[in-house]
Amino acid sequence: MAAESLGVTTKKEENFSDWYVEVVRKGEFIDQRTPVRGCDVFMPWGYAIWENIMHFADPLFKEHGVKNAYFPTLIPESLLTREAEHFEGFVPEVAWVTEAGDSKLGERLALRPTSETIMYYMYAQWIRSYKDLPLRINQWVNVFRWETKATRPFLRSREFLWQEGHTVHRTLEEADREVLDMIDVYRKVFEELLALPSIVLKRTESDKFAGALYTVAFEAFSKEAGRVIQIGTVHNLGQNFAKAFGIKFLDRDGKEKYGWQTSWGFSTRLIGAVIAVHGDNKGAVLPPRVAPVQVIVIPIIFKGKEKEIVEKAREIGKKLKEAGIRAEVDDRDDYTAGWKFNHWELKGVPLRIEIGPKDLENGGVTAARRDTGAREFIKEKDVVKRVKALLEEIQKDLFERAKKKMEESIVTVRTAEEARKAVENKKIARSFWCGDPECEERVKELTNGAEIRGTKFLEIEHAEGEKCLVCGREASHVVYIAKSY
Ligand SMILES: [Zn+2]
Repeated sequence: MAAESLGVTTKKEENFSDWYVEVVRKGEFIDQRTPVRGCDVFMPWGYAIWENIMHFADPLFKEHGVKNAYFPTLIPESLLTREAEHFEGFVPEVAWVTEAGDSKLGERLALRPTSETIMYYMYAQWIRSYKDLPLRINQWVNVFRWETKATRPFLRSREFLWQEGHTVHRTLEEADREVLDMIDVYRKVFEELLALPSIVLKRTESDKFAGALYTVAFEAFSKEAGRVIQIGTVHNLGQNFAKAFGIKFLDRDGKEKYGWQTSWGFSTRLIGAVIAVHGDNKGAVLPPRVAPVQVIVIPIIFKGKEKEIVEKAREIGKKLKEAGIRAEVDDRDDYTAGWKFNHWELKGVPLRIEIGPKDLENGGVTAARRDTGAREFIKEKDVVKRVKALLEEIQKDLFERAKKKMEESIVTVRTAEEARKAVENKKIARSFWCGDPECEERVKELTNGAEIRGTKFLEIEHAEGEKCLVCGREASHVVYIAKSY
């Protein structure tokens, strides 16, 4: 650690990719130097963020009637192929287990890329009557997607952590309702915990989840990257899987019917999105509610005052902890204060408390915000109250700032050429589309790899009187076009 140059050397707005890799590596969020490419180590700092996400989201799921369970990692090929569209969508990135010990297995076993098939195989055995519905099960697990493209820590890797919720309902209306409810829950997680604003889009037919009726996706946006990042999806699966797996129930009217299903997931990508959206040229900037350490207390040691200052720092740290704030005191004496400042800034700790001889004399501490750099003196008796207020302010400001940046980055365009320019200038292009998949495909070529990401799901936007940006025919959809991670 000490051998590596401290601090981020790349500028976020100049070379986002290098900046990002430097922050996750030097901030000790993740270590990619593993023997299998794309199977990274989530280091304690990165993993602690995931733990905080779980601690926040899990009770929300449970309030909504979701129960946690654990299903096996290995899925037999015959099960994975049962819903044809689904299998086709996933087969290019499935990792297979073919041998055990010295012998070849009779059937290939997939390392789960997602768990619809294994879970619904079991659901078909559990569900008999309308009284068994709704069924709502979630699991917090790892999944494997054998990416062939370049991997990117948190954002694209071969093994990652996620939650996947899978529900079964009596009617399509109930499944639609469930989609809306889960969108609400996800918004809470993304906005209130992670300070991540997003655009909620319905994916196009060609881009929806393999086997779903429709897919709703949350897109966060990093201004400096000029790209959207999918941070969560909610699918209405219709009856496709129920029919493939035989999930049937006896309804109140005595008739046997197929269940209506939803599935929804978010992953450790969220950590990458938080870094990509909020980070700056000093490193990560973590929203207080999800930061593993919310306040770092650093004694500024001066000769003759060492003992007093360190003791005061520990006392302040203790007070903050007792008030329920995640505070740490960095009283290591083999590192300079300057080194510690850089170290904790890089990791994204939202608030730093400094205690030097002057602060001691004046009976207080100096607080420095990670997001703005603003400093202020706080009297010792006010420390807990003021720190709490500051953390709330930082949380709110991060969200507002990111929201403003995202909204300012959306530009309405009417031709593919304008869309290409907008994307090149790191914007999200809002445009009009006729609905033809051929035009959708053309957008990718005409914009240098940006894509139609979908139409707004929660609000209706009218395309009347507008023309398709590709073919010039009458438009039927208002679409968002962007590059993505
Ligand atoms: Zn068209």
